[in-house]
Amino acid sequence: MVFYRKYRPQTIGELDSKEIREKLYNALKSPEVFHAFLFTGPKGLGKTSAARIVAKVLNCEKKTKGIEPCNKCGQCVSIANGTNLDILEIDGASNRGIDEIRDLREKIKLSPMSARKKIYIIDEVHMLTTEAFNALLKTLEEPPSHVVFILCTTEPHKVPGTILSRCLHLQFKKATEDELVRSFERIIKKEKLAGEKDALRLIANLSDGSFRDGVKILEEMALITKDKKITKELVQKNYSIAGIQYKIAQMIRSLEEKDAKSGLKVVAKLASEGVEVGHFMQGLIEALHNSLLFKIGVEFVPGNSALAIDNSKLEISEIKKLIELLSTAKSELKYAVLPQIPLELVIVEWSLQPRIDTDINADKHGFSVQRESVPKSALINEQATVIKKDIGIKKPPIITTTQQGITSYSENDALWNALIDKVKTHNHSVAGVLRGCRIKNYDSKTLLLETNFKFHKDKLSEIKTREILENALREVTRKNVNIEVMLKPAFAKALAGDGR
Ligand SMILES: [Zn+2]
Repeated sequence: MVFYRKYRPQTIGELDSKEIREKLYNALKSPEVFHAFLFTGPKGLGKTSAARIVAKVLNCEKKTKGIEPCNKCGQCVSIANGTNLDILEIDGASNRGIDEIRDLREKIKLSPMSARKKIYIIDEVHMLTTEAFNALLKTLEEPPSHVVFILCTTEPHKVPGTILSRCLHLQFKKATEDELVRSFERIIKKEKLAGEKDALRLIANLSDGSFRDGVKILEEMALITKDKKITKELVQKNYSIAGIQYKIAQMIRSLEEKDAKSGLKVVAKLASEGVEVGHFMQGLIEALHNSLLFKIGVEFVPGNSALAIDNSKLEISEIKKLIELLSTAKSELKYAVLPQIPLELVIVEWSLQPRIDTDINADKHGFSVQRESVPKSALINEQATVIKKDIGIKKPPIITTTQQGITSYSENDALWNALIDKVKTHNHSVAGVLRGCRIKNYDSKTLLLETNFKFHKDKLSEIKTREILENALREVTRKNVNIEVMLKPAFAKALAGDGR
């Protein structure tokens, strides 16, 4: 991504978000010196870029335009290159322990080498351990005057309130269409390209509020355009928007009818046209989401690119279920043998489910309800009828998540095996210890393991082991999950008795 690096904002004025620009101007203009900033928000919205800009503003040797950095002096250049020794970028995920923070506290006392302010940019700060947070808090309570902290996180709810209250909090939000278009125009001008406004709007819609994603599309278009002009037609052709939206509508119709055959045909078409399944699923989920909001009576967010299906026959509980199924399937894409398989399985599973015949809440509010309706044209061949009969006797197929989002035992088994496999690639002995444990509970935030042996518990509590486990678990679940280990109660009691 050359454009992204090349056009990373270098001044406050170049940041995408108007709100962030204004807050930073005000904070950095004021005579009151802030010793800690907290930047929160999803990935790809420019938190790190903003942190570096703040570092430049605080250290620039020759500001010319108000508070903006000059981007030419030694300080500005070395900060932009990442070679300034007084600007320390620390990854909270790999430096999360008390030792690292203690070390940091020692070094903080030393004056900066060449800059006015020593700046600590701690990324993924929510990954720090409680002890590390406590140590950090002590520093934040009485920071040396030459130090400024910029804490960044995608998960602000995991940052203790005591830390939050000592920081100037800036919340990075998904960029609006106008903000993205503004950024694209800046790039287009510098690249001496021409771009239709409609084309830029379309790219903005495709990038779902992420400057990084948008710039990537813009760059692709810049590479393929022959006359240095980015037109709406060019973007549409390459992202076959109209085509995709039409297929999303078709897919929703087939889901409404529980018509697996026509749903699978749409998937086959996608595959033959080379449309990326993940992109399609994203659009489908967004369309269902809009439909859900509409049915509940919430207006959609302006600028959302997804289709507004306001006349969907699906009921609220059905839409909810479909969004759950599709979200799970989308997360499985990475591991699928063929990219279309997870989506196909959702379609088949959905068509085999009996129609939800009541949706009391929806009914009360006067939403259209098709009670006890039978799928009009489900699977039509004989084989399918056999399957349906089977389903009639047994229970409907197991669904991946329950309403509370607590996963079932069979899923925990799958998670457990995947985790052990993943850990095995890093460390065999830790994998061995894991085999002696079991999942006591998993609720997508915390994984509670239970073991019979104290030495297992001790081993799993070691910092190094913990890191291996957490990294593996993150790879498997693509979430940050806390791991807790408990000793099986009977064994814990016996052990306590022994100790006396
Ligand atoms: Zn400068």
